[in-house]
Parts: sequence; structure tokens; C-alpha cells
Amino acid sequence: MDYKIVIDASHGGDDIGNSANGIVEKDLMLQISNYMKDRFESMGIPVIMTRETDEIITPEERVEKIMNTYGDNSDVIILSNHVTSGGGAGAEVVYALRNSSALSNLILEEIENTGQNTSLPYQRRLPSNTRKDYYFIHRDTGEYTQPVMIIYGSVNNPDEAAKLKNSALEYAEAVVKAVMQYIGKPYISQDMNQNGIESNAYVVQNGDTLYQIANRYNTTVAELKRLNQLTSDNLQIGQVLKIPTVSKEQKDSLYTVKSGDSLYKIASIYDTTVSELMKYNNLSSNLLQVGQVIRIPTVNSRDTYVVRSGDSLWNIARKFNITVDELKRKNNLTNNLLQIGQVLKI
Ligand SMILES: [Zn+2]
Repeated sequence: MDYKIVIDASHGGDDIGNSANGIVEKDLMLQISNYMKDRFESMGIPVIMTRETDEIITPEERVEKIMNTYGDNSDVIILSNHVTSGGGAGAEVVYALRNSSALSNLILEEIENTGQNTSLPYQRRLPSNTRKDYYFIHRDTGEYTQPVMIIYGSVNNPDEAAKLKNSALEYAEAVVKAVMQYIGKPYISQDMNQNGIESNAYVVQNGDTLYQIANRYNTTVAELKRLNQLTSDNLQIGQVLKIPTVSKEQKDSLYTVKSGDSLYKIASIYDTTVSELMKYNNLSSNLLQVGQVIRIPTVNSRDTYVVRSGDSLWNIARKFNITVDELKRKNNLTNNLLQIGQVLKI
């Protein structure tokens, strides 16, 4: 199934929700909802929000937005974010009468892993009609969608409020992780995205090619294939690719082709040659595409030099910090005449 996520930042505008100990529900919930949206999108999952700004949105408008966008389908997961002013039992999840508790259990497990207290997930019925859900987010969102109301903690309880202030995004991340697990898509942790060796994992999205991904991350198709042990250029949506981390030094030796560039121009900027660039980048032609990343050979990596117009043994020797005699000896040269295109060992 191609799951879609609805993130419901509860309350908004004059409806501030629960408020105590420096926490205002509408604001904190918008903050964590925005966070979740970015996280899901970074892993290629479609997301809509019921509100993105501090405004009043009625339950009817929320339901309409969800139904008009994704319809009444079982691949629609609705995450309604709240805090409570009662209790103090930690995080709670309320699920719909029509659904199982599977998703809710995963969410609470992950939240518990962050150190927050949790209780068992539950359903809540309308007192006037016990066949119906108590909350509109369950009751009015069709027969197939999977809505959960997540209550992260109680703002009245000073300990809980302090936890919420410090760890709200951690709880949000826990929900993201649980949902990814539930929908069976690869989860990429936030830490991995921000730093460290594995920091640059990328989830392949519809329409991606190795070439585009290589350009986006300042690397090459060959490098991506090597790192991911790919034997072909075919990608699958949802596939997780390792992206090489690029040191500052390496970054300096990468050049992104701009409109009007030629290999000749780039070679002259970096004091190298077209044939050297072609060899170093495994290029079979000298046609470039805008956005293509070219590796620039560093002096150490060069063991050969292709003679260019205007070169002399003297300037080549100086360029590589060797003597003319050494250069001649290494290349068995009997005189000082060079030909353009001649390859010298350095
Ligand atoms: Zn609320």
C-alpha cells in the first residue's frame, strides 16, 4: 500500500487548547506537526497538514481537507497531536473503534523508549451513542482511514510539562519511527541525516535517477554504484542509497558544471588538461551537462601530464616541483622538444 499521512496540529487561533506551565497546546502541537511533516517527507512519504499556521479550523474543515485530499482509504494514517491537562500518566493513544491497536501500540512503544511514561492504547465511545467514536477525528473520518489521537503528556503536571518542553521533538521522532515501521518503509534516523558516516542515506523517490542523486549530493554515478554495490543503473522507489560523505578537502576538488562550461575551460581553471579530466572522471566524450559534477584531480593524484600548447619542459618541471633533468630521464627524452598532446610521466 502507498500510505499517506495526515498530520493534525490540533486547536489553533483563539482555540489555544490546554495551557499550563509555559506550554500552549496549539503552539507546541504545530511545532511538532511541522517537524513530523519534514521527517516523513524526507523519507518520501506524502503528507498533508490540517493546519500550517496559527488559525482556527473547525472539525468539519479538518475532515473535509482529509477526505478531499486522500479519501476514505485504509492507506490513510491520521496523526492528531494533543497534550492533556488531566492525568499525568504520560503519553496516551486513542484509536478508532474500526481499527486495531497495532499502530497505537507501536507508537506508545517508541514513545516509551524515549523515557516517557505510557499507558495502554484505548478507544473512547460517544456516551449518547456507544457505537460511535467519542472524538470527531475518529468518528467523522470515514470507515477505512486509520486515525490516532496522540496525547504526549499533561501540561498541568510540572514534571510532565518539563519533559514536554525538553523532549517534544523526541516524542515526535518516536511517532515517526513507529509509523515508518507500521507502513513497512525504511526509517532513516534523524542523527543519520545530520552527521556521521551514515549521515547521507537517501530514499529513492519516484522519478529519481542515479545521475540526479549524484548531482544533488556532489558525487558521481560511479561512486554511488560502487558504494551501494549496484550492478545496474535501475533504482526502485523506496530503495535506500548510501551517499558518500564528502570532506571539505574533497568538496574543494569537485566542480559542478555550469551553463557555458567546457572541459577545456574547467581544465584551464584548475590547471589540468581535458584528457586528464576525462581519464579521472571516466568520461567517454567531452560533452558536459549542466549540473554534472566533475572531479578535479589533485596534484598528488597525477602521475602523468599531457603537454599543452605553450608548455615547455621547464614550466612542466616547475609545476610538479621537479627538475628538467628528472623529467627528461623519466620520459627517456633526448631533447627538449615537446609535442602538444604528448603524455609525460611525472
Ligand atoms: Zn487537544
